[in-house]
This record gives sequence, structure tokens and C-alpha cells, in this order.
Amino acid sequence: MVEPVIERTFAIRFRQRREARGWSQAIVASKLASMFCRPEDQALIARVEKGKRRIHLEDAHQLAFLIGADIKDLLTPVECEVCNDFPPAGYSCQTCGAKR
Ligand SMILES: [Zn+2]
Repeated sequence: MVEPVIERTFAIRFRQRREARGWSQAIVASKLASMFCRPEDQALIARVEKGKRRIHLEDAHQLAFLIGADIKDLLTPVECEVCNDFPPAGYSCQTCGAKR
């Protein structure tokens, strides 16, 4: 089966933002549950970040809101395979030249 590209993009971009905030998957699961009155589901976050399965649009929407991102940004294809357009803070990527 071909890996769904849009899910992979969402997975990469969501994880980058989560890690930049210093949040664990457990923290995200807990915030998601309290913010949207839903059961706490850490497995969902892990699944989303694997990017291998289809995810519900509602989940995508809520996760984007939670992380403070525009959903459009989380769906923009990643250009650099090395840093995923997101080099570590204070470094620049030698392949694409991206800086942060
Ligand atoms: Zn790069």
C-alpha cells in the first residue's frame, strides 16, 4: 500500500510543532481531551504522528487548533527530506539552507 502523503505531511509538521513546544504526546492527549471534552486518547496522537493511517478531519482540525497552527500549514508538503523544513533551533540545514 502506498503511504498516504497528506497524512505523512501532517504527521511531520504536527510533531515538529509539538516538540518545539516541549509537549509530550501524553500532554497533547490530555489537552485535547480537556479542550474538546473528549476521552483522553494518547494512542490517537501516536497514530497521527506515524502518518500511516487516515485521520478524521475533525481530529486534524482540533490538533491544529491545539498546537496553534493554521491547518493549511500542516498540510503544506515538506520540501527538504533532510530537515523536513525544520532544522534544530539555532542551526541551519546544509542541504536546503533553512535556518531557525
Ligand atoms: Zn533542510
